[in-house]
Amino acid sequence: MLESSSSDGRDTELAALRSDAVVRLTALDDAIAQLRADRSSDTADDEHDPEGVTLSSEWARLEGLRTGARRDIEEIDAVIARREAGHDGVCVDCGRRIPIERLRARPAATRCVACAERAGA
Ligand SMILES: [Zn+2]
Repeated sequence: MLESSSSDGRDTELAALRSDAVVRLTALDDAIAQLRADRSSDTADDEHDPEGVTLSSEWARLEGLRTGARRDIEEIDAVIARREAGHDGVCVDCGRRIPIERLRARPAATRCVACAERAGA
């Protein structure tokens, strides 16, 4: 049963991935808001607090992660929309089926390996 191309399993997997990404995004939003609050409340801390020096690089790191989490959610939403439209598992570029091994490794993939490499993804 599990080895058949169980669409239920994939729905569950996509839903789990999406909620993971949402949790990640929420945590990052909180962390960034906290960082912003810290920075505006005691900017003078930069003078004597060694932590202050790393604040902006930490900010950049969190912003990067947040962008990644947003992209993940968009990717997963796109896959869910394609599933609903009945196009799931078909490469958006060449229209060939995406190998199941690739979908297992990258559940949100919308391109086959060759097209993904061409697209630089
Ligand atoms: Zn392709």
